Amino acid sequence: MEGFDLNKLVRESVSKLQPYSSARDEYVSDGSEMIFLDANENPFDNEVNRYPDPYQRSLKSLLAEQKRVSESQILLGNGSDEVLDLIYRAFCEPNQDNIITLPPTYGMYKVLAGINAVENKEVLLTADFEPNVEEILNAVDANSKLLFICSPNNPTGNSFKKGLIEKLLKSFNGLVVIDEAYIDFSKDESWLSQLNNYPNLIVTQTLSKAYGLAGIRLGICYASEEIISVLNKIKPPYNVNQLTQQRALKRVLNQDLVNQEVKQILEERTELIKALDSLEFVSELYPTDANFVLAKVDDANKRYHQLLEKQVVVRNRSTQPLCESTLRFTVGTPEENKKLIAILKELN
Ligand code: PMP
Repeated sequence: MEGFDLNKLVRESVSKLQPYSSARDEYVSDGSEMIFLDANENPFDNEVNRYPDPYQRSLKSLLAEQKRVSESQILLGNGSDEVLDLIYRAFCEPNQDNIITLPPTYGMYKVLAGINAVENKEVLLTADFEPNVEEILNAVDANSKLLFICSPNNPTGNSFKKGLIEKLLKSFNGLVVIDEAYIDFSKDESWLSQLNNYPNLIVTQTLSKAYGLAGIRLGICYASEEIISVLNKIKPPYNVNQLTQQRALKRVLNQDLVNQEVKQILEERTELIKALDSLEFVSELYPTDANFVLAKVDDANKRYHQLLEKQVVVRNRSTQPLCESTLRFTVGTPEENKKLIAILKELN
């Protein structure tokens, strides 16, 4: 991309910032026995009495190897929600800049814009849930810092066409954040391989979905070394706790199990789609590349409450634009899906 200058996108206060230097920033262990009297910790060992590695080096080194990127192209956060918030705070001047989102999409982009006092310019997806490139580029102005592309998209489930994303990456002078929370369920390739081709590309991923670790909160941001160093400047010093780092490492090492679970979820998704398709009150099922299915039903409120009465919680997405009368079903275990399907068939 020609003429891209990251320095022009960074918030002035962040550019000028002298970041906090934590005790563990100033000393990196070489593995030898040391006496640590630098961080005001309780010295008695209980496995978590010490601060965690602020840069999560072991986990990053493993991710870097698996994803074929450099460790300096990775930032980890307390869920990808924290990563997204850091991106706003690093690049958007409150009450001045704007971001572009493509509804119906993940609701946090809008909430984070509100929290950070940044205007959210919404450009609806087309009727077939693809980015409307022309309208998006029309919405861009000199203060447009971020464009959020969620692919596979939540709540619609589809992955966007590669050519459309490519066009946006080439034409948008701010940062393009591709949220790949559901990429491990997708048949499409991640945009990670394109990191070195687009200096304005940020890819976010998470261990909350396919990796089955929503409870530990681990989000991942991949971008150029320059972007990552800006984010590192503003992140809380110990934002990823020790237990999370350990648990994530163990799981990422056990890729076979993750793959096996994803395979099973995808098989279950096929069964769920078949069952939903046979129901009279379901009028449309949208193509999905994620671990959930969006379905248009006759009366979403009624069906939602009927399911709730049977102890099944799904998500009513009817208030989202282009999603009138829709329910979003996450794929459960084979037992859960069997129960769900039996309950759905009984509804009238
Ligand atoms: N992006 C998308 C598209 C999501 O659906 C979610 C969670 N529902 C997130 C990000 C946030 O994930 P995390 O658990 O990593 O904060």
